[in-house]
Amino acid sequence: METIIVGSFFIICILYEWLTGNYKAEKLSKVDLKMVALCMGAISLVQRPLVMAIIFALAGFALGNHQGSLAFLEEQYFVWTLIAFILLEEYFHGVGHWLAHSRTSRFKLLRPIQKIFKTAHRPHHLIGNDDEKAQMTVGQTFVEGWAYWFVMPNIWFSFIALYLGLTEVFLVGMIIKGVWSLHVHTNWHYDLYFLNHKNPILRNLFYGLAHILTFPTTHHQHHSRGPNSAKNLHNMLAIYDWLIYGTLKIEKTAPERLGWRQNEDEKRSAFYRFTRTY
Ligand SMILES: [Zn+2]
Ligand SMILES: [Zn+2]
Repeated sequence: METIIVGSFFIICILYEWLTGNYKAEKLSKVDLKMVALCMGAISLVQRPLVMAIIFALAGFALGNHQGSLAFLEEQYFVWTLIAFILLEEYFHGVGHWLAHSRTSRFKLLRPIQKIFKTAHRPHHLIGNDDEKAQMTVGQTFVEGWAYWFVMPNIWFSFIALYLGLTEVFLVGMIIKGVWSLHVHTNWHYDLYFLNHKNPILRNLFYGLAHILTFPTTHHQHHSRGPNSAKNLHNMLAIYDWLIYGTLKIEKTAPERLGWRQNEDEKRSAFYRFTRTY
């Protein structure tokens, strides 16, 4: 069910981008499109099932007696459990994403771990062939290095919650997170309409709301080239960027240039982008 709902929304986003001319010849780089196909195939066929099997096996070893023990929470307090799940999942996503973007750690022991996060997340920021034509597209949601899905703490958190019995909460939470993440990657800047609206009440209300939720332009700024690419770490809850990391940056225009500078191998090969590990 989760796959059907998130997949249908993905198709709606593609249709929107197609109708608004995102896929015209020359606009998207071929390596980017190959990367989207490679990452989507790998996530659904290899990484997600494999990481779930690994986490379930480890949880069975460490938490064997507790399997299903939190099921009562979703039976009695579904909405509150769902809210807590989303808040925590998004928080753990932010921790991993922050590690991937922060400066090299002062602690020597942490550096190799940080390097894995940085390398695994780097492909998410490679768009276009290092030229100014780079375009955002909804497929970029799935683009990460192969190791990303194995190391991100939110993936571990969500599968452990599933193991502990939060089945419905996991499904609904993943649908909400999935749909929101897809929509912030889509080339659809509806938020700029509100952020620049001539009515000051509407404009300011939306500006306030952008402190709580992440919108497409806020996330596209994270994909830009320049200082804003270290801002807006969260896909859904901007409030963490605002209150925890101090990394919230609400701009009233779309970024002029997207994607990080690439080396020759990254420009040439999707396989290289995907498989580089360290
Ligand atoms: Zn990032
Ligand atoms: Zn992104």
